[in-house]
Amino acid sequence: MKRGTQEPNPATTMGEDLPQAMGSLKILVVEDEEAIRTLVRHHLGKEGFRVDTAETAETAEELMAESPPHLLVLDWMLPGMSGLDLCHWLRREPGFAHLPVIMLTAKGEEDYRIRGLEGGADDYVPKPFSPRELVARITNLLNRSYPELQTEVLTGGELRLYPGQHRVVHGDQEVHLGPTEFRLLQFLMSHPHQVYPRAQLLDRLWGPYAEVEERTVDVHIRRLRRALEPVVASEMIQTVRGAGYRFAPPS
Ligand code: CA
Repeated sequence: MKRGTQEPNPATTMGEDLPQAMGSLKILVVEDEEAIRTLVRHHLGKEGFRVDTAETAETAEELMAESPPHLLVLDWMLPGMSGLDLCHWLRREPGFAHLPVIMLTAKGEEDYRIRGLEGGADDYVPKPFSPRELVARITNLLNRSYPELQTEVLTGGELRLYPGQHRVVHGDQEVHLGPTEFRLLQFLMSHPHQVYPRAQLLDRLWGPYAEVEERTVDVHIRRLRRALEPVVASEMIQTVRGAGYRFAPPS
């Protein structure tokens, strides 16, 4: 088994590898049955996703090292390394620890569902599945994982964020944010009250291979708070000691 051999991409700059729209997302399908691979590729392609396929976990590792996907559809039973083993490995790799993973399991393996979810999968689809259901699960997981792709207005207290217009207002006052602070606020507002460690914010906002230090996050949090001070909203960005940051709108 080949493990942990990939080199990080050299100096990925912010936003380069990050999705700009649902359709530009890349999905890697790891499945040894050709008929299922073809079916899934066809349906995901029709939805506008970019699709890569691999027959084995080992090939998937190589593909991922070359060009990391935004989501993995992973069959449990594979020749060689199992899907579950690949999932375990991913969760220990800094670059893939938060990669969204949907596991596929054959009929009769439903009992393994808990093991799959405990093993780090985000969702689980039993075979046989309808392509429509799989696409729906994928879209749902992508929405949860990449909230910056959503176009609906985010609100928290008097604060409103308009993703499409890159605009933030508090009451009737405009809030002026740099692009990174905007993304940071958007991400935090998408999951109010949830605490995010610096490492996870780095992964989500700069991409897994960015050569950025964790204290960079603190710098942008400070800038974000400063930008929110004129509208008296900086206290919504809270530091949770030893845990990370969260968006806490007044209730
Ligand atoms: Ca299989």
